[in-house]
Amino acid sequence: MQTMDSFNFAGKKAFVRVDFNVPLDENFHITDDTRIRAAVPTLKKILRDGGSVIIGSHLGRPKGATDKFSLRHILPRVSELLGVDVQFAGDCIGSETEAKAAALRPGEALLLENLRFYAEEEGKPRGLAENATEEETASAKKAVKETQKEFTKKLASYADVYVNDAFGTAHRAHASTALIADHFDAEHKLFGYLLQNEITAVEKVMKDTERPFTAIMGGSKVSSKIEIIRNLLDKVDNLILAGGMTYTFAKAFGGNIGDSIVENDKLDLARELVEMAKEKGVNLVLATDAKIADSFSNDAKTNFASVKEIPNGWEGLDIGPESEKLFTEVIRNSKTILWNGPVGVFEFDNFDRGSRAVSDAIVEATRKGAFSLVGGGDSVACVNKFGHADQVSYVSTGGGALLEMIEGKVLPGIKAIRGY
Ligand code: AMP
Repeated sequence: MQTMDSFNFAGKKAFVRVDFNVPLDENFHITDDTRIRAAVPTLKKILRDGGSVIIGSHLGRPKGATDKFSLRHILPRVSELLGVDVQFAGDCIGSETEAKAAALRPGEALLLENLRFYAEEEGKPRGLAENATEEETASAKKAVKETQKEFTKKLASYADVYVNDAFGTAHRAHASTALIADHFDAEHKLFGYLLQNEITAVEKVMKDTERPFTAIMGGSKVSSKIEIIRNLLDKVDNLILAGGMTYTFAKAFGGNIGDSIVENDKLDLARELVEMAKEKGVNLVLATDAKIADSFSNDAKTNFASVKEIPNGWEGLDIGPESEKLFTEVIRNSKTILWNGPVGVFEFDNFDRGSRAVSDAIVEATRKGAFSLVGGGDSVACVNKFGHADQVSYVSTGGGALLEMIEGKVLPGIKAIRGY
């Protein structure tokens, strides 16, 4: 299989699928350009080799072509970061775009308009009436799948080689993230640096695991993490479950959790997961104490309590000192660490101590040689808040894509290129 380093792009046109789905403010200024910067090494290498790039991305969730979601808003920043005047195609398909792509010379770049302006990108029908019958829905789906083939072929026709560097959408079987790869032979489709780095990091954790392997799963709800927890129970030595889900577990075992966040329909599941951990010999570590608050606010009155003895009118918003000791000791002695989800409401400064302690322990273990992967929205925000992003082994850029990989799923965007 070709890699970014093995492939010589000289004289070649590359279609590069990136994830430039960046946040914009009301004046269309980019508020965080991390995703653009993440794709720069791939794009620059192609241009440096003497190739040209056709850049494809989505932005937001448009229902059709609309200026609000136009990629032209980000064109100046893309040009600035690439150090070339990037051209723009105001439509991702059509004869004008074809001509622009055909005229690209070595070292030149063309940014296509938002791929999701076409329903064919996602392959989902649009504008279906809410009361559409099953038959109507099925026929609309079939119709868009048919036109999707043509759309995909057109995108592929611009280039000699396909590069996927969009980890954020690798779990989607869309035209430009997966289907397009069928139009290129094995020697002419490859992962960009970012996507390759993400795959390498996840596989280092999930497949070439050095033990002990500890996963820390936090966040607000157990329901959104069930599949991941199940899959992790087959892989980890230690599983720290924290954050809001603590209280579902505490209640499931007869605890008094006051007004803490809880999923009452998941109490059986909590008991089942504890049993599963026992059967599989996994050391399941749950918080024993909490920093409690008399309201969900940074300025609430606070106290400490056992997670099973929280008075009514109070709720657990962070772990307490005993849990902090328990968690950090396990983390410090680990060789592989996966962190997804804060252990408390880290957005409030008065309740970020637990997450900070976890982050500190991960940094310390990493310094001693452990491999640490931090990923999934909020834990990334955590390491950024604590200034630890460059002191862990890898910070993933993927939300859903990362979680699906940890769940053990094969991602369409990855399979389309390497076959598995
Ligand atoms: P998730 O998106 O499920 O990973 O959840 C992340 C959110 O969980 C963050 O915004 C945290 O503030 C929140 N969270 C963590 N611990 C708690 C808690 N004890 N009570 C309520 N929310 C929490």
